[in-house]
Amino acid sequence: MEVAPGVHRIEGVNGSNAVLLAGEQMALVDTGIAGNGDAIVSYIKEMGRSPRDLEWILVTHFHFDHSGSAREVKELTDAKVVAHTAETEPGPDGTRMLIKGNEGEQPPFWYRWVNGWGRGANRRERQQVEFHETVVDQTVDEGDVIPALGGIQIIHSPGHTPGSVSPLLKTETGCVLFLGDSVLNNVNRLSRPLMWDRSKRRELDSSLRALRELEADVAMFGHGPPLTEEVMNAVRGLTDRPYDLPTWRIALKNYQTLRRWRKRVQQPGHWEGGAAPTPEQEA
Ligand SMILES: [Zn+2]
Repeated sequence: MEVAPGVHRIEGVNGSNAVLLAGEQMALVDTGIAGNGDAIVSYIKEMGRSPRDLEWILVTHFHFDHSGSAREVKELTDAKVVAHTAETEPGPDGTRMLIKGNEGEQPPFWYRWVNGWGRGANRRERQQVEFHETVVDQTVDEGDVIPALGGIQIIHSPGHTPGSVSPLLKTETGCVLFLGDSVLNNVNRLSRPLMWDRSKRRELDSSLRALRELEADVAMFGHGPPLTEEVMNAVRGLTDRPYDLPTWRIALKNYQTLRRWRKRVQQPGHWEGGAAPTPEQEA
C-alpha cells in the first residue's frame, strides 16, 4: 500500500511494519520478525523492480520484531544493513553486529507470560524471539542522511533503546517521520511505548521533546497504521501530557486487561499486519 508518493507499507509482513522507499535507489525501513524475506522481495518484484535495486535496510532499533528479517533480506537483495551505532556491538573480524535483545534486556515476568515466552511457549513463539547474527554494514548517527527518495535524515531518539532512530524522509511532496517504537499509534491517540525502566522513560521523553521541532505530514509507526492528519500536533500532544502510571502497574492493576491481551496475542495470525496491541491499547 502506497502511503505517500514512493512510500510503501508492505503487506503480509509479520511482527512490525516494513516500509519500502521506492525511488531510483530503494531503502527499506524495518523488516518484521524472521521469515519475512520472501514477502518483502515479492513486493519489490511486483512493482516491476529488481531486488538488487534495494540499497539500504535501515532498522529503527535492534528489537527482533523489527530487525528479524534484516539478514534474510540482505541475502536476497545484497542491500546494506544500516543501524545507529548504539544498536551495534563489536563482531568477529572487525565487523559490527546488531545487539541481541535477549542480553541484558529481559522483559518483566508478566510481559513474557502474556506473550507466551519462556517455559511453556510453543515452537513458533520461541522462533519469534530467536535472534539472528546480523552484521551491520553501515552505522549512522544524528544528522546523517541516506540518499533514498530525496533523503532520509537520521534523528537519534534514544529511550526505547539506546540507538533508536526516528528517520525523517524529505520528499518534494512532503515529509514522512518514522517513529519506530518511540511512539505508539493507538488510532485515537498516541502514547509512549511499553517500557519497564523509568530512567529510560525520561530519556525517551527528552527525545520526544526534541521531535516537537520537526515538521512532518505523515507519521509511520513500528506497529499499526500511519497517521496522516495533524501529525505534529499529535506528537507534540504526547509531551504535553504528564506521565501515565508505569505500564507494569497499569497491567497489574488491571488483570482482566492483561488476560484479554494474552488471549489475543496467542491467537494464530496475531502477528500479521504488523499489529502488536499492548495493554495500553486494550485499556
Ligand atoms: Zn521495540
